[in-house]
Amino acid sequence: MNEKIALFTIFGGTGDLAKRKLYPSLFRLYRKGSIAEHFAVIGTARRDWSDEHYREIVRETIKDLNPTPEEADAFSSHFYYQAHDVNDSEHYDTLKRLSDTLNDKYELGGNHIYYLAMAPQFFGTIVQHLKSQAILTDNGFDRLVIEKPFGADYDSAYQLNEEIRAVFPEKDIFRIDHYLGKEMIQNISAIRFANNIFESQWNNRYIDNVQITFAESLGVEDRGGYYDHSGALKDMVQNHILQVVSLLAMEPPVAFSEAEIRAEKVKALQAIRLYSEEEALANFVRGQYGQGKLDDQEFVSYREEPNVDEHSQIETFVAGKFLIDNFRWSGVPFYIRTGKRLTEKGTRINIVFKQVPVNVFKDDIDKCGEKTDLPPNVLTIYIQPTEGFSMTLNGKEIGQGFTTTPVKLDYRHSAETTGNSPEAYEKLLLDSLNGDGTNFSHWDEVAQSWRIVDIIRQAWDKTAVDFPNYAAGSMGPETAFDLLEKDGFTWDWQP
Ligand code: NAD
Repeated sequence: MNEKIALFTIFGGTGDLAKRKLYPSLFRLYRKGSIAEHFAVIGTARRDWSDEHYREIVRETIKDLNPTPEEADAFSSHFYYQAHDVNDSEHYDTLKRLSDTLNDKYELGGNHIYYLAMAPQFFGTIVQHLKSQAILTDNGFDRLVIEKPFGADYDSAYQLNEEIRAVFPEKDIFRIDHYLGKEMIQNISAIRFANNIFESQWNNRYIDNVQITFAESLGVEDRGGYYDHSGALKDMVQNHILQVVSLLAMEPPVAFSEAEIRAEKVKALQAIRLYSEEEALANFVRGQYGQGKLDDQEFVSYREEPNVDEHSQIETFVAGKFLIDNFRWSGVPFYIRTGKRLTEKGTRINIVFKQVPVNVFKDDIDKCGEKTDLPPNVLTIYIQPTEGFSMTLNGKEIGQGFTTTPVKLDYRHSAETTGNSPEAYEKLLLDSLNGDGTNFSHWDEVAQSWRIVDIIRQAWDKTAVDFPNYAAGSMGPETAFDLLEKDGFTWDWQP
């Protein structure tokens, strides 16, 4: 493995994301040799920590990966802490001195990755200071990795983008969407473009509808303060779900390269119909969980969660229908749903194929005395917690008479394999070291996603809603089922 050389400056180095995701992912890269001797990490945040304390915290965060004591010490010795208020210009001068020292000590060639693991309101000020205090290097690379959310609507995203683009060119901006780092999302491309059996049918002649479910069994946990200003539409649909829609809907790229894939994804997003507010209300429904019970466990309602307004109008559930106006997808609804406190945690995609033109078995009677009904063929792509795909076909039941029965061909990775496959953040960090932006969101994608989502939000903000409208532990409000039923479909949700 070729060693990558860089200095990481992590803004928000004492935060939850840094501890739960970034340090363990860096350690995985270290263990694999992707980073070795020529890397260093500066953690910055407001707290006054010593390097020694910081290293102790870093060692704590990688404990579950069972490093030997020597490994843990050697890895954590590359970490340095700098107390820093991002609004204070003087602090950037101290940061620059430390960066320069580490650059020389570890021979980093001026390669620099700035990771903003902080609340988005700080992004603008940090990048401005990186330029004004001359922290950016004139040799090596300067890359910026930023966390979601990127703006709160199109206008704020545009403004944030202007601030960032004044300092970094687009090719050096890595907007994280951690779903894009997941193995299975990348496998959507493998399923489509490595299998003629699917790609040749991947259009409105053979596909009836597409169903994308991002279900969470957890509630809002300790993110109430953030979530109650965001809601499911902005937290999940604007980014993760529209990214998945674009990967499913895009045309085959000419080559599997960043520029080609990006161009196709952007075209797919641009083909998604921009609804009027009236259409948005007809095609999108929202929900908020009330009290509920699942497997003998009682859950409080969303409004009773910590840091949530007791009269909150924020949605914890969204379901909707996107229509894609191009030759390939005209007439095929892409249904999406996502929510908290649902029955089961699971991210999956159903590609529901059209029925055969004529059901020649329709007059045959099955064991229960019913006429034989042919269920559609469904290709399900599982993203989490298991990864893989399944295909349901119709076969003949053994025995006298003629009864068809659904057969499920299942290809799912064991928990062990999934556990050993690179974690999303590990992949994304390595991509940023390689300068590969394929699995990050480009501004054109972010901008179009906000245009699509803003209309729904505006329509909702003008209409009253009767929350809560689904019980914790259920699969969401009735309206989410009605949405498909009125088109003659049902959500297909099999374990
Ligand atoms: P956090 O609140 O745990 O950490 C925030 C960090 O910012 C802390 O280190 C804090 O000291 C630092 N900070 C705050 N104000 C500062 C200031 N004025 N100067 C310097 N440092 C300051 O937040 P988090 O959960 O780690 O999230 C960070 C970012 O990542 C957010 O944009 C969030 O939306 C995003 N994100 C987090 C997760 C996650 O799993 N935690 C997942 C996806 C996205």
